[in-house]
Amino acid sequence: MARLAGKRCLVTGAARGIGAAIARAFVREGGEVIITDIDVSRGRRTAADLGSAFLKLDVACEEDWAAAAAEFPAVDVLVNNAGITGFEEGAGPHDPEGASLASWRAVHAVNLDGTFLGCRYAIGAMKARKAGAIINISSRSGMVGIPGAAAYASSKAAVRNHTKTVALYCAMQGWDIRCNSIHPGAILTPMWEPLLGDGPDRPARMEALVAETPQKRFGTPEEVAAVAVLLASDEAGYVTGAEFTIDGGLLAGSAAVPR
Ligand code: NDP
Repeated sequence: MARLAGKRCLVTGAARGIGAAIARAFVREGGEVIITDIDVSRGRRTAADLGSAFLKLDVACEEDWAAAAAEFPAVDVLVNNAGITGFEEGAGPHDPEGASLASWRAVHAVNLDGTFLGCRYAIGAMKARKAGAIINISSRSGMVGIPGAAAYASSKAAVRNHTKTVALYCAMQGWDIRCNSIHPGAILTPMWEPLLGDGPDRPARMEALVAETPQKRFGTPEEVAAVAVLLASDEAGYVTGAEFTIDGGLLAGSAAVPR
């Protein structure tokens, strides 16, 4: 059964990683998908693979969202997936004492401003039909403090909270526009490659990174996409303002082993 048949779905940061997996799963479920990304060449390749449309969309850029609204004035599903950690530009420090204001702002511009602008666009593109689903990709880092990635954790926590504000706002208007957040733990995507490398110690590095995850492995982008499909579909009609961890059990309890 095609669970997203007849639904137009826009996914940000969908050229690769989790966004691409969500786009692929949406297409499989019969959705009409619009791939968007800041990376035009990879975005076009992914869109061609899936037989989808492509639009260049820098989520931090208000003008790009206005262009998206002009080209796609109506959507049924929006996934605010694009995100950065801050480590793309350099190793840091990204802790609360050493992080630069410029890097703090750059991370919030993409992760938080991008999600705010996306939600604002989606409300406008859904309210004529008074229905739709907005899915915000936050992180497990939005639920706990991360000493080494202060801006990332702060921005993802704000995404979690804004999701609930949007959900309540839409419900108050009497619209069936639902808004939920997903909180992945360690999901194996190209985002991790700089940390893993391709040397002989790669397996040991991978093992170390998930040593405190109860399921002792990375998650896959497809495991995140499966939850996104559910939230996008009408089956989740009574789910709004909710948060879903996909983290191998990491947040089920303290990572510290009790004595
Ligand atoms: P990737 O880095 O693999 O993919 C992200 C994509 O978003 C890239 O194509 C990237 O383009 C694009 N992008 C970056 N900045 C912008 C922008 N301003 N506007 C539009 N697109 C942009 O990331 P993941 O797939 O791993 O992560 C996807 C989401 O999931 C992110 O929000 C991330 O924070 C979140 N997440 C990921 C986890 C993980 O373990 N992978 C864990 C928890 C949350 P380019 O390559 O050119 O930068």
